Amino acid sequence: MQTVTVLGATGSIGCSTLDVIARHPDLFRVFAITGNSQVERLIEQAAACSPRYIVLADDSRYEEAVSLAKQHGVNAQILCGGDALEEVSSAPEVDTVMAAIVGAAGLLPTLAAVKAGKRVLLANKEALVMSGALLIDAANQSGASILPIDSEHNAIFQCLPDDFQYGNLAHSGISKILLTGSGGPFRDRSLSTFNEITVEQACTHPNWSMGQKITVDSATMMNKGLEFIEACWLFGTKASDIEVVIHPQSVIHSMVQYVDGSIISQMGNPDMRTPIAYGLAYPHRIDSGVAPVDFNTIGDFSFTSPCFERYPNLKLAIDACIDGQAATTRLNAANEVAVAAFLAKKIRFTDIARVNAETLDKMEPITVSSLQQILEQDSSARDMAMQVIRGLSAC
Ligand code: NDP
Ligand code: MG
Repeated sequence: MQTVTVLGATGSIGCSTLDVIARHPDLFRVFAITGNSQVERLIEQAAACSPRYIVLADDSRYEEAVSLAKQHGVNAQILCGGDALEEVSSAPEVDTVMAAIVGAAGLLPTLAAVKAGKRVLLANKEALVMSGALLIDAANQSGASILPIDSEHNAIFQCLPDDFQYGNLAHSGISKILLTGSGGPFRDRSLSTFNEITVEQACTHPNWSMGQKITVDSATMMNKGLEFIEACWLFGTKASDIEVVIHPQSVIHSMVQYVDGSIISQMGNPDMRTPIAYGLAYPHRIDSGVAPVDFNTIGDFSFTSPCFERYPNLKLAIDACIDGQAATTRLNAANEVAVAAFLAKKIRFTDIARVNAETLDKMEPITVSSLQQILEQDSSARDMAMQVIRGLSAC
């Protein structure tokens, strides 16, 4: 029986995680669930999975949560704020933490789980993009295992051999990691109309149902850029070891290429419950509720390479990955600000990459290593991105 904390329970990954857990009451018990704005959903989830703790990131909703909990007959203790998120991530009773808060807000609770030596199921890619070395070093020190939940990295993890050594592809005869992506909803759209892309269009992914931020990141392919950086940290690879391949059907979730010409891929329907179930039960396999791919109806698979003119954010992320930690922390921060401004209809779709590029250009190169330096860079890049956005609005 594993005891699990689900950070970001009210989100897309959080809901899928609770769905898989509910299928296996003999294997998993929920210790804590956390949310931010969706208080009603959080309390309904608590009524269904009976956690010991409910944590609200935002303490202004505490009274509402208490009253809803009473109505639903929920007895869990309700806690609020960042310290409480870290406490339920590192509590001694907890074996496994699903890190599914979106964005930089997930870093501190994820780091707390890693430092406490938990099995960390990492969906929150932004945490790793912001502070890769810090999380990997902390895991090495505490003995925590970080299991990738992002479908591509989970696929790569499944295609690696048992003798894989972190950062040593040659040892296992691996020549390349092929990171696949659908190309998003604007793969075939005329570039001359990109200025007219609406929030509604960018928030509709052709294959996956996900939270708003990652859906916009998928449309700009910043998501693949963040995943490129994520892959480097998770597997210890160099940027030159990874190739991005567009595969519009999203059935192949990524591949590992070996020196003998073999390529091993992981396939499945685009449903995050598959990687979540793999992470929860690893090294075993459990039912996830996902139907297998039906090869009689699936049709053709196709592959192309990404065009950086269409996806400038992907290029920015690959360059930042080569540049180092300060650049990836800043890019992640700028992108969060830019995507929020786009969703609030303050900037155009094409401005997202502009804000990201200008933010990076306007900041002096530096080296960062400590958590404090990373948080400082995150904060200054957010300020810079806001300044760039104000400049755009003034034009
Ligand atoms: P959602 O937007 O659906 O959910 C985000 C979760 O984070 C919600 O529980 C939300 O609470 C919570 N949250 C938001 N802001 C804060 C904050 N400031 N403090 C604490 N909690 C907060 O996102 P997804 O589930 O789609 O994605 C979660 C993470 O997983 C992201 O990092 C994403 O990149 C990654 N991921 C997602 C995939 C997917 O298929 N969805 C696939 C691969 C990776 P509330 O809703 O109550 O406001
Ligand atoms: Mg992914």
